Amino acid sequence: MDATPSPSAPLRPEFQQALQEALQRYETPFYAYDLTRIHSRVKALRQSFPRARLLYAMKANPRLGILRRLRGWGVGLEAVSLGEVLRAYRAGYTPEEVLLNGPVKTPAMLEELRGAGLPILGVDSMADLERIARLLPGAKVILRVNPDLPIATHDHLATGRGESKFGILAAEVPASVRRAKQAGLEFLGLHLHLGSALESLEDFQEGYRVLEALYESIGPTQVLNLGGGFGLNFDPAQVSEAAQKLADTFGAQLWLEPGRYLVAEAGVLLTRVWGTKRTRRNYLLVDAGMMTLLRPMLYGAQHPVIPLYEGPEVRAWDLAGPVCESGDVLARNVPLPTPKEGDALAILQAGAYGSSMSSNYLDHPRPLEILWNGAEWEVLRRPQSLEALLAEEA
Ligand SMILES: *Cc1c(COP(=O)(O)O)cnc(C)c1O
Repeated sequence: MDATPSPSAPLRPEFQQALQEALQRYETPFYAYDLTRIHSRVKALRQSFPRARLLYAMKANPRLGILRRLRGWGVGLEAVSLGEVLRAYRAGYTPEEVLLNGPVKTPAMLEELRGAGLPILGVDSMADLERIARLLPGAKVILRVNPDLPIATHDHLATGRGESKFGILAAEVPASVRRAKQAGLEFLGLHLHLGSALESLEDFQEGYRVLEALYESIGPTQVLNLGGGFGLNFDPAQVSEAAQKLADTFGAQLWLEPGRYLVAEAGVLLTRVWGTKRTRRNYLLVDAGMMTLLRPMLYGAQHPVIPLYEGPEVRAWDLAGPVCESGDVLARNVPLPTPKEGDALAILQAGAYGSSMSSNYLDHPRPLEILWNGAEWEVLRRPQSLEALLAEEA
């Protein structure tokens, strides 16, 4: 693994100072978020796409305290499970403000939605289409296109490749749209989500071309959903004109589903060093690990790390978590001063797919999550208790 990248944009000084205060009050590991930073990302996206409807992909970070803020700013939600839809409603969202995607929608799930309030549904396969038509006649649907493109990102994140499990191949889309209408569904339009952490302009351009070619057979639609996937080193403004133009071709409202882009850089994971060790590498032994932040292990994701202490002699360290798996290393080759026991580190760009992918592996409770609102720390989620961990067991 290469050295971890330096932060594309460092923390705001006010937030970094608030982190020092949080470290006095709370035990590590914990997640901390900067609300101002989330808001500025929403505003930046609005500026680039003034006519688009934004649907935040809540799997990036589903804390209710964040969802309520987003709703206040007029951002809708994109969900991919029943639980997420119910969570969206708990945050105050109404069904028409929520889009449910995802490759598998069971009959039980669809029945439950009938009672709870029916969101807009993203159709991902013919099986999905037929089941929705049978159980939820008249439902509003969009249809996900598999553009069958090479997509430059980690294999696990490339949803727009022909080999991926997502969407309906473009050649089959016209017949699927006819079938949706004939089966009594309200067809709103097409959906394209190419993958996550994308940084190549060409991937977006080629994806848009696939949709453009479908216009001739599909005709005008109400909606054109171009998904999310904006990587942290990609400025979505680069595609704003092409995206809007494509939506205009369809006479459709443009929808976007940003996840990572809105929250990744607003979040940090705070951890403390409880020792150093030398094997064939230099390790810092820290209290956060794969159970707190899975991305390094799952995708080889590289998160910048900054020291919140001063010390002598900067050299390269690997951050070893507490889990008994040799892959439980949060970062490699991080240049850091020599720490004392208990010194703190901030793992950056951890606001997206950090806490939402955390687990209880080895009976580690879920960590505390706090939000800096500009004046004080708000607790978004208390640390999980041992009682909560054991609650479902006989
Ligand atoms: C995960 C997901 C997103 C958000 O992806 P990001 O890379 O976080 O922007 C958007 N749309 C769909 C369908 C998704 O599954």
